[in-house]
Amino acid sequence: MNTRPKKRIVILGGGFAGVYTAMHLEKALRRHDDLEIVLINKENYFVFQPMLAEVVSGSIGLLDTVSPIRRMLPRTDLHVREIESIDIEKSIVTTTPGFNPHPSVINYDHLVLAVGNVTDFRGLRGLPEHAIPFKNLSDALYIRNHVIHILEEAATEHKCEGLREQLLTFVVAGGGFSGVEVVAELNDFIREVIKNYPQLNAREVRVVLLHALDRILPELDEKLALYAQKILARRGVEVRLNARLEAATGCEAILSGGERIPTKTLISTVPSSPNPLIDALPLPKERGRLKVDASLLVQGTNNIWAMGDCALVPTPDGGFCPPTAQFAIRQAKTTAHNIVTSIRGGERKLFQFKELGKLGVLGHRSAVAQVFGVNVSGFLAWFLWRTIYLMKLPGWGRRLKVASSWTLDLFLPPELVQLQLTNSRGVSHEHFEPGEEVFHQGDVGDRIYIIARGHAEVVREDAAREVRLAHLGPGEYFGEMALLNQTTRNATVRCAEALDVISIHKREFSVLAANLPSMRESLEKVMSARSKTSEMLMSVELSHFQN
Ligand SMILES: Cc1cc2nc3c(=O)[nH]c(=O)nc-3n(C[C@H](O)[C@H](O)[C@H](O)COP(=O)(O)OP(=O)(O)OC[C@H]3O[C@@H](n4cnc5c(N)ncnc54)[C@H](O)[C@@H]3O)c2cc1C
Repeated sequence: MNTRPKKRIVILGGGFAGVYTAMHLEKALRRHDDLEIVLINKENYFVFQPMLAEVVSGSIGLLDTVSPIRRMLPRTDLHVREIESIDIEKSIVTTTPGFNPHPSVINYDHLVLAVGNVTDFRGLRGLPEHAIPFKNLSDALYIRNHVIHILEEAATEHKCEGLREQLLTFVVAGGGFSGVEVVAELNDFIREVIKNYPQLNAREVRVVLLHALDRILPELDEKLALYAQKILARRGVEVRLNARLEAATGCEAILSGGERIPTKTLISTVPSSPNPLIDALPLPKERGRLKVDASLLVQGTNNIWAMGDCALVPTPDGGFCPPTAQFAIRQAKTTAHNIVTSIRGGERKLFQFKELGKLGVLGHRSAVAQVFGVNVSGFLAWFLWRTIYLMKLPGWGRRLKVASSWTLDLFLPPELVQLQLTNSRGVSHEHFEPGEEVFHQGDVGDRIYIIARGHAEVVREDAAREVRLAHLGPGEYFGEMALLNQTTRNATVRCAEALDVISIHKREFSVLAANLPSMRESLEKVMSARSKTSEMLMSVELSHFQN
């Protein structure tokens, strides 16, 4: 009987790198019982990201791209938690509390860092508030629901020209694989389902792809990238090259040259940044990725391993591995082998893998592929894409589900059901640019706004004049009158200097006002003082006007 204590291997992240490492470690457990595997991931499922764009268009079902980690890894102790911190000195990982209000602390003998990277909009004006990332299942679901909601709104508001233009313009920023795939699927989906909206005209739909460089898909051979550009343009996607997204508001995408594209849908797959967990670690990094040696051990350590998108893994030819699933899966096998040899003894392997190819779908049964150095495009590339990725899906059950979704999709129209996943519009953050209106006099009042940063002007229009009633700054709020008096807006609020606000929907606001009498009282006092001031200002203006 083995009396030695088990070595605990803690894997952070349940993506390609983390899950495949645990799978290979489980194989090493078959004949020995000397290891304990713990995997910590935010979700209890593994996402097959290459097929995520198809969830947006509904070509495959909502759950077809995900697999429950527990079924994939029966001998691994799964913790579905957010990782809060990693203490390398003490060899512990802390996760956020669940129902038990204490953070949980897990110690490790070997640590595997596989937390991927993140789409980080920080520092880009208005993007954290208004741009939608495209990285995981919840993003794909959100985009799908949002687009259906937008089409419903456009059909109802089809007589309101400015708004209709914003609603029918869909912008995707980032011309890499994920940006191109999502814009292609989105374009196909919108142009197909718009037939169900007799009030809308497909010719008014604009689907725009913004890319900062002079050609899309920089990872691919130029010929294939130009082919992809041509195919997208033929299907109605406006491909805007050398166009960098700089800022956003709730109704515009703003480019670096100052051009403004009216839109209520902005999806951005860029910029890709290091996971904040990795950023905080006192370990060697380059370009935000952990520096590892060819055995996947983090430089300067003897029990910390890293791979996948969060690591900079050297290749035998002196370069570095690209951040793709194809590499993450192979790196996972090497890592698992090397962890086992460092515990049981044996020779470590060095990571050596030559990329097999690159594939990207362009919707409508076409794709581009570079396989073993050969360029393929059109239907054949699409067929290759589907066959290769179908076989890469984990488990036959999942493969069967996807194959049947794809078959049905050939004959049936796409689903158009908008899932209302939440019944609360709650509290949100919004950004406005100078000159933009937060709301207009006469609008229905549905939110109250608290200024976090910037300034706003309150103006009232009367007899073709505009009277400035107030200038508001950080810490002040507006929009309460229409909510408390249940009337329409009695003034216009316009952004004077780049404005970040916290807006509270009237439902949540009513709950607060009903349960916090002191808050309601103070709001009513402010409201009455503001009413008096505005009456006075309006009568002064009127007398000026009459004189
Ligand atoms: C839309 C899209 C399409 C793609 N298509 C392809 C393709 O066709 N071919 C290809 O080879 N590659 C493709 N990629 C790239 C590929 O998916 C990545 O390279 C791969 O997922 C990297 O694996 P990873 O394990 O390093 O990171 P990820 O797969 O991102 O996994 C990281 C995991 O860590 C978890 N995590 C992160 N932070 C925390 C935390 N604080 N607490 C708890 N859990 C945390 C995340 O929830 C996630 O499960 C695509 C990527 C995207 C976004």
